[in-house]
Amino acid sequence: MESGSNGNNRYDRYHIETKPAPDISEWPTRFTVEVGKIGLAKELLTEIWHHKFQNWDVITSRPCMYGVFSGPVGGFSPQPEHCVGCLRCTTEYPDFVKVSHNPERKKLGDSYFTSNFIDAISYEVEQGMIPVKGAGYRGKFGGDGWDGMWTDMSEIVRPTRDGIHGREFISTVVDIGYRPNMLTFDSQGRPTGPTPRVISIPIPLIFDNPPPSVSGELIWKIYSQAANSIGSLAVLPLGAILEHNLESDHVIPLVAPEEQENIDLLSGTPLMIEMDGWDEQLHRHIHDLFPETLICLRMPFSSSEELLAYNKKGIHVFHLLADFHGQGEDGEFVLDLIRQAHTAFVEAGVRQEVTLLSSGGIIAAEHIPKAILCGLDAVALDTPVLVSLQAEFSGECADRNESEFNMPNNLDLDWGRQRLMNLTASWRDQLLEISGAMGLREIRRMRGEMGRAMFMVDLESEAFAGIEGYEYG
Ligand code: SF4
Repeated sequence: MESGSNGNNRYDRYHIETKPAPDISEWPTRFTVEVGKIGLAKELLTEIWHHKFQNWDVITSRPCMYGVFSGPVGGFSPQPEHCVGCLRCTTEYPDFVKVSHNPERKKLGDSYFTSNFIDAISYEVEQGMIPVKGAGYRGKFGGDGWDGMWTDMSEIVRPTRDGIHGREFISTVVDIGYRPNMLTFDSQGRPTGPTPRVISIPIPLIFDNPPPSVSGELIWKIYSQAANSIGSLAVLPLGAILEHNLESDHVIPLVAPEEQENIDLLSGTPLMIEMDGWDEQLHRHIHDLFPETLICLRMPFSSSEELLAYNKKGIHVFHLLADFHGQGEDGEFVLDLIRQAHTAFVEAGVRQEVTLLSSGGIIAAEHIPKAILCGLDAVALDTPVLVSLQAEFSGECADRNESEFNMPNNLDLDWGRQRLMNLTASWRDQLLEISGAMGLREIRRMRGEMGRAMFMVDLESEAFAGIEGYEYG
């Protein structure tokens, strides 16, 4: 762990073990590759002549260095699954090679979790690496939702730190729990008031309870084992934990008010319990049974007054929910909802005493630092975990309970755990890169750091206000 020494007094740097974990379900390829047979035959004859009937492996692989033309009959039967869309072939041989986006691939996901996001996750979970796009970015630089927020990476006003190369360490540890604004002591130096109670996790990502359409023993085990492997947490239903013996320090029981009696069946003391909605009796019962356990309240994003009222009742950890498209109950986007929740606690002077977790609409690596800048302490991942496991969307999947996802029939425990480890490793590396570029040495300091955030509407307004035809927002 990056937080210090292990039991042998040896310092261990936090590291997630990545390994190749190729797809187990056949998805449509990203690109289709069409080759004109006559043009290819002429090109091959030219190559044969050039190489004097030698170097057959070179001749038959032309013109693709990624192996698309390297099958048993070369380009006469291309293998589009290897195509990365570099366009070298179409640039060199525009007369007989055509590479296009595969319309079938575009059907993956839904209107929010589009195939572009799926492509990125698909790459990240296969290898645990960061997707790199070269040849210049030709898309838009702004848009709705998360695309309307940019991060400030100015090197002029702050030194760029070392990102994933690790010569200058950047900590991704975050704390979940309660830290009182001040400590008080008696004359003997013993604390007389509340003392901090926190769980430190090495990465600001936990796994959220999977939706009902995919829930089952195998999925729960994948979540719990992946959380255990990366030293983070998975929120799972209390019933599943009891039935399948999943109790561990990395599993957070999710308890509905009607399950109150079953909490007594837990054999150990959980580090945290998540209440599925507020219930006075349940809160008291958990507190009486496990006085040292953190209690988290799972609820939809709500008004400042409501959040502060729950805080006064003793809730210090909030898990706030938007739907899978990042919409709150009144249609506001999760980015704005996080800012409102964070600001409510800042203005009440108790932000240091609470932890804000959130799920819904956070589906790409870049959304993590943006969500933390807006005020989250950590993100509870939902649909990205399902996409990592090659779940397919059945229509629009926005509702947390009603959405239908189909998991592959050949889902496997070790494969699933590795895919989630690869996902978190890749997203952590991207978090390190962006923290380095913003000059931040630890993620704890990123929370609510609006000095590093820029909003498209504000910048546009500064530039264009007063010009005829411009409308703010
Ligand atoms: S676009 Fe690039 S990767 Fe795809 S077939 Fe052509 S050369 Fe190969």
